[in-house]
Amino acid sequence: MNKLYEKVIGLEIHVELATKTKIFCGCSTAFGGKPNTQICPVCMAMPGTLPVLNREVLNKAIAVGLATNCEINLNSYFDRKNYFYPDNPQNYQISQLYEPICKNGYITIDVGQGEKIIRIHEIHMEEDAGKLLHQSEGRETLVDYNRAGVPLIEIVTSPDMRTAEEVNAFLQKLRLIIQYLGASDCKLNEGSMRVDVNLSVREVGKELGTRTEMKNLNSFRAIGHAIEHEEKRQIELIENGKEVELETRRWDEEKGNSYSMRSKEDSRDYRYYHDPDLPPIRVDEGMIEAIRASLPEFREDKIRRYKEDYKLPDYDIDIITSNKKFADIFEDTISYNVPPKKVSNWIMGETMRLIRERNLDENNILLDGKKLAYIINAVDDGIINSNTAKLVFEEVLINQIEPKTYIEANNIAQVFDRDTLLSVAKEVISTNEKSVTDYKSGKTKAIGFLVGQTMKKMQGKASPVEVTKILEELLQ
Ligand code: ADP
Ligand code: MG
Ligand code: ZN
Repeated sequence: MNKLYEKVIGLEIHVELATKTKIFCGCSTAFGGKPNTQICPVCMAMPGTLPVLNREVLNKAIAVGLATNCEINLNSYFDRKNYFYPDNPQNYQISQLYEPICKNGYITIDVGQGEKIIRIHEIHMEEDAGKLLHQSEGRETLVDYNRAGVPLIEIVTSPDMRTAEEVNAFLQKLRLIIQYLGASDCKLNEGSMRVDVNLSVREVGKELGTRTEMKNLNSFRAIGHAIEHEEKRQIELIENGKEVELETRRWDEEKGNSYSMRSKEDSRDYRYYHDPDLPPIRVDEGMIEAIRASLPEFREDKIRRYKEDYKLPDYDIDIITSNKKFADIFEDTISYNVPPKKVSNWIMGETMRLIRERNLDENNILLDGKKLAYIINAVDDGIINSNTAKLVFEEVLINQIEPKTYIEANNIAQVFDRDTLLSVAKEVISTNEKSVTDYKSGKTKAIGFLVGQTMKKMQGKASPVEVTKILEELLQ
């Protein structure tokens, strides 16, 4: 292989919007419900029913468009994409082909060579299909229509990415923007974000090659593997004088291989036409401005502000803003007037540790800033020591307990009473002669053991600093 090839990659990304109800009816969009309990005559396409656009879908689609620098189309409409498939009650999908709601946007990424613009060709609204459940014996297939009519946006990029690293950076950033907006949780493993990778290879500087489209990529790992594998496959074809076929391929992450699913269909194949059941969508400037005004503060702005206002280290800021959840917890907690760096330490330390060790979903953790602030103050005021604080924090994060009540009920506040501490310390000294001798002969580290013993007798309810002081006094 002596020619120099490069990859050209464009993405099509489906995102399920986090609205309470479906795109054209009032059925719930909740994930994981009992099959066929979230359906009605509209989403089942019964004769005589008519779809009505859910305004929240339009609002969220516009919000994503604004957050990705798109132009908002003031006159868009829905089209029917006609095809038969058992998970699709209407035998057509309501989508937008000719006039999508958003066009011509971009996101910048930086993978270490400066900022690069990745263009967004369009974002359109459409409805999701139901789900086929193939039974393990392979004899029958069941269908669950709960997902039929769940709102989707499809984000289509221009073929602007050249490496798997760029794809990853783009997707991470897009996902974070959408999560910050609250427009979707973007979970690849649950299908609320689905990425199709279009990839071609070409000799550097030459015109675009024929692409393939890869589907079924349900993790960032799978996306990386699929890109690597497809690049090799296409270069090999070309080197052997064969042609890459325009087709849709299915990636199998377990086998580390992809398979041809079908030759790539063309929009003409679907006999698209303007859906006569739905009126055109008219958006006015006032509506756009109202949505623009309601956009949240995004990561880049937060990074700047946390640095200026709270003087947090870059490392802390990077972690806290990596998920809107953390940023929300951080801001909620400091609103109770506790030092920002201490809050950051709790998020980066104990919160991350518990997420890791208990395998929690970081997007679903419940941590009340008021409770965290209480714990931080309780340590500062000497009510509990830092070890006890960790136990209390764990209870707050896992079981949502009330820290003050919990500390009282479990009798774990520190004992301040100097006389109690003195008598326990004396007892420890009298029963640990060896450590005492060691200490007196200059092995000052021996005091650590005595502190430990005293703490143990105090059941952890003392300040180690205080205990050390008292032991030192006694040993003078
Ligand atoms: P279609 O309408 O057939 O789906 P599009 O032009 O909309 O095709 O492109 C679909 C996706 O494929 C887009 O993400 C686009 O960036 C990408 N794409 C188009 N041409 C190429 C190519 N030659 N190599 C890689 N990706 C491509
Ligand atoms: Mg397409
Ligand atoms: Zn319905």
